[in-house]
Amino acid sequence: MSRVLIIGSGLSAASAASALVARGLRPTLVDVGLPPDPEAVGLKNELADTPPTRWRRDSLDRIRGMDAPSACGIPRKRWFGSDFPFRSVPRDWDLQPVDVSMVRSYAEGGLSNLWGAALQRVTASQIHNWPISLEELDPYYDHVLALMRLNGNGAGPAAPGTKSEVILRPSLQARALLNDLERCRTDLAERGFTFQPSQLAVQGEDHEEQGCRYCGLCLFGCPYDCIYSASHTIRRLVRLGHVNYMPGTFVQTIEQKGGNLTVRAWNLRENRPEILEASVVFIGAGVLSTARILLESLRYYGKPLTIRHSDMFTLPLIRFHGVGGVSTEALHTLCQVFIELQDDKICPQSVHLQVYTYNDLYLPLILKRLGAAGFLLRHPIQKVVERLLMVFGYLPSDISSTVEVMLDPSSGHRMLIRGKRNVRSATACKKVARRLLLDWRMLGAIPLTFQTAVDSPGGGYHSGGSFPMGKQADFPSTDLLGRVPQFEHVHLIDASVLPTIPAVPTAFTVMANAHRIASLCRVP
Ligand SMILES: Cc1cc2nc3c(=O)[nH]c(=O)nc-3n(C[C@H](O)[C@H](O)[C@H](O)COP(=O)(O)OP(=O)(O)OC[C@H]3O[C@@H](n4cnc5c(N)ncnc54)[C@H](O)[C@@H]3O)c2cc1C
Repeated sequence: MSRVLIIGSGLSAASAASALVARGLRPTLVDVGLPPDPEAVGLKNELADTPPTRWRRDSLDRIRGMDAPSACGIPRKRWFGSDFPFRSVPRDWDLQPVDVSMVRSYAEGGLSNLWGAALQRVTASQIHNWPISLEELDPYYDHVLALMRLNGNGAGPAAPGTKSEVILRPSLQARALLNDLERCRTDLAERGFTFQPSQLAVQGEDHEEQGCRYCGLCLFGCPYDCIYSASHTIRRLVRLGHVNYMPGTFVQTIEQKGGNLTVRAWNLRENRPEILEASVVFIGAGVLSTARILLESLRYYGKPLTIRHSDMFTLPLIRFHGVGGVSTEALHTLCQVFIELQDDKICPQSVHLQVYTYNDLYLPLILKRLGAAGFLLRHPIQKVVERLLMVFGYLPSDISSTVEVMLDPSSGHRMLIRGKRNVRSATACKKVARRLLLDWRMLGAIPLTFQTAVDSPGGGYHSGGSFPMGKQADFPSTDLLGRVPQFEHVHLIDASVLPTIPAVPTAFTVMANAHRIASLCRVP
């Protein structure tokens, strides 16, 4: 039987694995696969086994430890206090970043241990210049939803134009905002705004009271495993005997001889080289690691590659009318509302805004910024925080920064990554803030435009396009099945192959495309 390897265990790998299993194949996932720290797992289990009213303060303080804030003021997320999804490993490549905040993950499940679980399909106009149409991609979104095994909570019907994505119970602030927006839906639409409750890869409550308990810890990890992670799918497939999983394996290069592929890796557990033979390989190692594996395999030193990116910015809004009980309600703290803004004066494609409502991180972050003054003003600031909405805005890649990556010709072990800012991006963020200010009455909120902050290139985690799919493969372009011309049976399945990065949360589209490639490719 042919040997099918998938490199990685993140969202793209999980999606490709389930497509291959559906074809009757039994792929092997070759993965660095760092597991979570035992201490973090202990904290998670303690919280899951104890009712939230009896959670210990010192346990909560331990998981709320924060890293330094990024350029847009947001600290990097951790998983129950652990940074294992971002940790390096022996044999790791030496990354030399300049003005860039891109990350790579070597964790089991990759970045899906920390993601915000926001799901959104692309629209036909967002991918009008892709070599595949929305009709070709669309069925695979449904396959991805099926593998996530989400159950709805009956909180409301799916938003118009969407299929069965789960809508969780919005917070009090989100409900008030959605009511205000609903009252002005037609006027807002005329002014280019559309909106809907956020769609999240989160288990809703079911009749047995499983699923989201609205405990508010989402930004630190879910004690009940309700936020979908790629490792849920991988572990289930391993349990059923449908896939093999090889953690502790750091892939370095791939060689092709005739119809056979040789994967050279380092066995991190036994500290020795490992050689694997395969007839087909899928690479879902995340944009930076995939670039590294491919460039190293082809010995392309000193050849720059361009990674495209969807620039992210943050903008606080203050609601005019407060809602009682905001700081004490049971709620989820992921994104609550999606808003799209179509304004040709900003850019031809829509801008995506994610609205986050109250969470108990805001107060300590603001107090920390204010120093001694914050201590004196704690009470009034708490009142303001109860009316605060945080908007995370995303721009399409046409007007966003790019990131150049290159293997250092003087040291094959080093990868240079340089952010290249796009002047149009900062201007576009300001224009979006101004548009929100102009329409403050309809939003029921004033944007603090002077607080708009744009993240560094690569921040916001929506990057790709280093090996964009085209009608034909022509390095670095890949064909419709994610293949560079040099390797007939190596398929790239992560965001590397997206031709552009539309202003949407991209992982859902990456998973749909990985499923498409793994469903359609020829397995020799
Ligand atoms: C805080 C945060 C919030 C986010 N929120 C959202 C969101 O709400 N919606 C959204 O769409 N996206 C979001 N994202 C982005 C999303 O999580 C990623 O795009 C997605 O998880 C990437 O999946 P992937 O499979 O391509 O790669 P990764 O998740 O990067 O996984 C890479 C895998 O490859 C393995 N690997 C890497 N190198 C090697 C090697 N050399 N050898 C063997 N194995 C290797 C790793 O062990 C890992 O398993 C967020 C990201 C973060 C960090």
